[in-house]
Amino acid sequence: MAAASIRLFNTMTMQKETLVPEVPGKVGVYVCGPTVYSYVHIGNARTFTSFDVVVRYLRYRGFEVRYVRNYTDVDDKIIKAARETGEQPVALAARFVEAFREDARALHLLEPDVSPKVSDHLPEILRIIGTLVDKGVAYESQGDVYFSVRAYPDYAKLSKRNLEELCMGERVQPGEQKREPADFALWKAAKPGEPSWDSPWGKGRPGWHIECSAMSARYLGETFDIHGGGLDLIFPHHENELAQSEAASGKTFARYWMHCGFLDLEGAKMSKSLGNVVSLREALGRVDPEALRFFFLSTHYRHPLAFSDKGLADAELRMEYFYETLRKVDERVGGKEFAPGPLHGEPARFLREFESLMDDDFNSAGALGALSGLFGAMNELTDKPPVKDKALVGRTLQALREDVRKVSGVLGLFEDEPSHWLLRRRDRAVKERGLDVARVEGLMAARVEARKVKDFAEADRLRGELKALGVEIMDTAGGTVWKVA
Ligand SMILES: [Zn+2]
Repeated sequence: MAAASIRLFNTMTMQKETLVPEVPGKVGVYVCGPTVYSYVHIGNARTFTSFDVVVRYLRYRGFEVRYVRNYTDVDDKIIKAARETGEQPVALAARFVEAFREDARALHLLEPDVSPKVSDHLPEILRIIGTLVDKGVAYESQGDVYFSVRAYPDYAKLSKRNLEELCMGERVQPGEQKREPADFALWKAAKPGEPSWDSPWGKGRPGWHIECSAMSARYLGETFDIHGGGLDLIFPHHENELAQSEAASGKTFARYWMHCGFLDLEGAKMSKSLGNVVSLREALGRVDPEALRFFFLSTHYRHPLAFSDKGLADAELRMEYFYETLRKVDERVGGKEFAPGPLHGEPARFLREFESLMDDDFNSAGALGALSGLFGAMNELTDKPPVKDKALVGRTLQALREDVRKVSGVLGLFEDEPSHWLLRRRDRAVKERGLDVARVEGLMAARVEARKVKDFAEADRLRGELKALGVEIMDTAGGTVWKVA
């Protein structure tokens, strides 16, 4: 299948451009991964979810994607955190890599094709620093090695900053012997008690930025297609990666730069029940993972997103509506065969609209709107079908259900069995409300008995009693079910 035409906003040119991969049909994607000194922050989780959907959609559109997301497991923050816990930095980093993997799985993030760690790539890092020193764009100073921003004329072309202002604004840290305040460390001389490796400049460890230059080149080549990360990484991290890589290779580094907007925690800070929830792990303890994905994807990836209790609760309600619709549709037409024939209306239009919105810079917010139309059509066909022909309605519902499966793989939503998802949501609501499940089920059983003996007055009274408890009951094709209203 020929790959589709996708437009994306390139931070380098500040314009939407058509994605033309260097090798037709193949796309290399590098996303800066977590620094593993703690549980991943909810803002980072948004960034990783955005790129998860970018990768899924590129694949859906027929591109062969190689997705690389690193772990920064050598870093000042890790050393500091390890000092506080009394662990070895390596052990602390390994523990949080594992925690990240668990959280990422819970959030339905695809495992990247390669998840390299800094500590496994010292030879590659030393090689690129050596090249930069040989070329005269980096210099050694008392066991540190710095990149010389003045030796690379294109410095700051991604962030569009002014080099003179940068040089004036930067302060030299005590102990640093840099030629220019804006020069940055490629290699840091070992300090007592810190992890270190041998190098031509003595024992030390890599600076932060060089790892991504080394690991992207190793797994995607010196030139690759899409480099992604959070907006906060443009400067200095991505600027520095770019300078090192292009100065070393003499080639274009990333051909497209994509940046995900900030997650604004103000709303959450003011919220009592969320308190100061900032880690993905804590958020997943309170909200359904697909609801959290839905919440992230409801805003365009480049726009700021305000994190709030209400936003999460609304997202979960919306997911409940979607899953209730799917349960109903599955009960009606799941596994059934209908005589072949035409479909009612034009059900394929929702998927086409979804695709055209996603083709336009991965507009997931718009695409979810198209999905609302699709679910609306499914509800209409199940609740009040506009035509009497049952086979026509059945075929159309099955076609729509199939399209939900297709978008499910792109968004990482609706991946669960509807009744399982709804039960989990109910269990969570039961816990939050402190409901007595035995009592609810006793009342439910009594209502079934009352209906059996056609005592409808008693059945209605029991329904009212359940309602007073905050329980809503629904008689479905598969029997009576209840949910927390
Ligand atoms: Zn990076």
